[in-house]
Amino acid sequence: MLTIALSKGRILDETLPLLAEAGITPTENPEKSRKLIIPTTQEDVRILIVRATDVPTYVEYGAADLGVAGKDVLLEYDGDGLYEPLDLKIAQCKLMTAGVAGKPAPKGRLKIATKFVNIAKRYYAEQGQQVDIIKLYGSMELAPLVGLADKIIDVVDTGNTLRANGLEPQDFIATVSSRLIVNKAAMKMQHRRIQELIDTLRSAVESRQKP
Ligand code: AMP
Repeated sequence: MLTIALSKGRILDETLPLLAEAGITPTENPEKSRKLIIPTTQEDVRILIVRATDVPTYVEYGAADLGVAGKDVLLEYDGDGLYEPLDLKIAQCKLMTAGVAGKPAPKGRLKIATKFVNIAKRYYAEQGQQVDIIKLYGSMELAPLVGLADKIIDVVDTGNTLRANGLEPQDFIATVSSRLIVNKAAMKMQHRRIQELIDTLRSAVESRQKP
């Protein structure tokens, strides 16, 4: 049995067409179904529906053999039991700092609100800048508007959400796209099956990149 952990939304929408090229299609619509374990057209493949930030956990502990997770989630995840063999080049965006448009950062120690606490710590340590990091779980754009923080760190695609809230993207931290991740033991135990799937997905990704 191959178990693949996916999260609803962007990742599921963009991963299903790639899995379809490997002959793997869920037998019911995961966006509509309340089920968390979804069988597929391949009897020995099933999909688990989990929170995006939980995908690496399911895969590291072997509850799922494979998963798809954003690079932002992987950079934030504290673990080392994962292979990351393939960039699926989907759900692409950037990790950026952002602040109130046109307002210079105050002197002294900055307050940074983010759900990416580990990424924020590493980024400002590399910059040699001391900051206070405030953990939030969502609606980060609000924090600089109401004085909770001077800046935020968030993923940005078009920047429309920032602009709609009077914020501007400032410093670039990393590019983000979704990655296929594989449990290390599964990669050994089911090597042929998993390598075959990686190869098929790689060709599907490459054929999409061609003009
Ligand atoms: P934007 O296009 O910049 O307005 O992004 C819309 C919202 O989606 C923002 O709140 C972003 O944080 C979020 N977002 C954009 N791209 C991604 C992505 N690839 N993965 C997860 N969240 C994203």
